[in-house]
Amino acid sequence: MTETFKVLALAGDHIGPEVVAAGLQVLKFSADKAGLSIEVEEDLLGGASWDVDGTFCTDAVLAKAQSADAILVGAVGGPEWDDIRVDGPITQQDGLTRLRVELDVYNALRPARAWTPLLHRTPYRSEVVDGADLLVIRENSGGIYYGEPRGVERHADGSVRAFEISEYHTGEVERIARCAFEAARVRRNSVTSLDKSNVMETGKLWRETVARIGRDEYPDVTLNHLLMDFALYAVSKSPCDFDVLLADNLFGDLISDMVATVAGSLGMLPSATLPAATRAGEPIKGGIYEPTHGSAPDISGKGIANPAGTILSVAMMFEHAFARPDVTRKIESAVEDVLKAGVLTPDLGGTATTTSMTDVVLEVLA
Ligand code: NAD
Ligand code: MN
Repeated sequence: MTETFKVLALAGDHIGPEVVAAGLQVLKFSADKAGLSIEVEEDLLGGASWDVDGTFCTDAVLAKAQSADAILVGAVGGPEWDDIRVDGPITQQDGLTRLRVELDVYNALRPARAWTPLLHRTPYRSEVVDGADLLVIRENSGGIYYGEPRGVERHADGSVRAFEISEYHTGEVERIARCAFEAARVRRNSVTSLDKSNVMETGKLWRETVARIGRDEYPDVTLNHLLMDFALYAVSKSPCDFDVLLADNLFGDLISDMVATVAGSLGMLPSATLPAATRAGEPIKGGIYEPTHGSAPDISGKGIANPAGTILSVAMMFEHAFARPDVTRKIESAVEDVLKAGVLTPDLGGTATTTSMTDVVLEVLA
């Protein structure tokens, strides 16, 4: 009996449904071709869920996500829902955050690579960026975004004090450090860990803990530490010198958008956010796969969103959720062929539509 993988697709808002439709076509086509049995169910998240159910992520969607092998997300949010204020914890205010917290997906993988046909679309000279291949490992369930207490105090004189705290426990740093070292072992064996250990207590704990895990458990992997501010300079100066970049939730958020510059468009970037470290050959259940970009309300409904970030997220799903890296490589190389053929959406300087670019990816895969 062949195993059937369950995929929950949550398209979300604005261009979310446009790019998820493209991703699902590639998912179904590639699974068929690889002899993999998958079952896809679609549901609502974000503003789309709010409009129907008055909440950004229903209990029913959460339950489906908890039993799925993989979750494909488009993007959530838009000006229609910006002013909605929900009392209570951050998990009630944002549907994607609720999913991330409940699924405990702490290991965010955000790869960013240079694509030869797009070198001229980057802000770099091609000799600087050609060959760049980075993987940001971002701690995604702790740190300043979730530290308690947080709040806003309104004072009698009209002034306001807003605050949150940055906090990490040893165990949280240990487990994400292992994720970075494991990822490096199947890449170029090098981890650069980023922190502000010169001024932050969490930074000191981060650096000591990562160093200890490296020394005790991964002596074969090269480890360097950089201060976060200098890292932004160093990585943008010579992106080819780096392999895995490990950072906490806040700094990982910053560096993962910055490294998108090597790819030539935010629309090219995939991500996987997993509840475990990746290990070759072992499928991980319950990961969230989504493009790095947001819902792009400025181009929604025009059919011109770049589907590549979502298609490449589907590629990551084959590797990490289905343990089929062979299919991953096929999809990545199909995307590269399509770029080479000059079938480009407007963000890449072309005139292709979401559908026409996706159709050519499917043709190359056939
Ligand atoms: P954005 O990523 O949506 O858009 C930034 C710019 O990049 C826009 O000009 C947009 O047109 C362009 N862009 C993004 N994706 C593209 C694609 N696939 N093809 C072509 N062009 C693309 O970021 P933003 O404008 O800051 O945010 C818009 C909304 O998305 C906000 O409501 C924000 O909260 C939300 N958002 C959601 C997520 C998520 O769901 N994970 C992430 C970031 C932002
Ligand atoms: Mn971000």
